[in-house]
Amino acid sequence: PGQSPAEYIKQHIRTVPDWPSPGIQFRDITPLLSNPRVFRVLIDQFVHRYFDLRPSAIAGLDARGFIIGSVLAYELNVGFVPIRKKGKLPFTTVEETYELEYGSATVEMHTDAVKPGDRVLLIDDLIATGGTMMAGMRLLERLGAQVIEGAAIVDLPELGGSQRLRAGGLRVHTLVS
Ligand code: AMP
Repeated sequence: PGQSPAEYIKQHIRTVPDWPSPGIQFRDITPLLSNPRVFRVLIDQFVHRYFDLRPSAIAGLDARGFIIGSVLAYELNVGFVPIRKKGKLPFTTVEETYELEYGSATVEMHTDAVKPGDRVLLIDDLIATGGTMMAGMRLLERLGAQVIEGAAIVDLPELGGSQRLRAGGLRVHTLVS
C-alpha cells in the first residue's frame, strides 16, 4: 500500500556482491520471477506501455530477456524472436561482435526472424554498458527492422549504457535504476 510499482519491483531485486567476479555487484532478478505477485506487477508495467506503442514483434536478449520478453509477447499477441549467444541457433544467422571489459562477445539472430518494416521492441533484464543491447539493435536494423525501443527492468546509469544507446539513436525505457 502506498508503494509505487517501481519501488515494489526494486525491493525484489537481490544484489550479490563480487559475482561473477570481484567488484561486480550482480543484480539478480530471480526473486522477481519466483514471486507471482511481483512477476505480474513487473510484466504489467511493460504490457501497459507497449499495448499503446504496438510493437509488431519482441526480440529478447539471451537469456533473461527471453523470460520477460516471451511473456510480454504472449500478452501483446505478437511474435517473439530470440537473440542468442553465438553457436546456439541452427538456421542461417547474422551476427554482431562487441567488446567487453575483457575480450569480446558475439550475438546471433536467424536471418528470417524479422523482416523490413517490422516494428520491434528489444528487451533484456538489465542495461550495464549497453553493449549487448547495441549489438541486438544492429542485428535488427541490418535485417531492415525498426527498433521502436530498448527496454529493461534495470538501468545501471553510472555505467553510461542507456546514455550511450540514446546517443546512438535508440529510445530506452527502464523500470528501475
Ligand atoms: P551490457 O552489455 O554491459 O549492457 O550488459 C548487459 C548484459 O549483461 C545483460 O544481459 C545483463 O543480464 C548482464 N549484466 C551485466 N552486468 C550485470 C549486473 N551487474 N547484474 C546483472 N546482470 C548484468
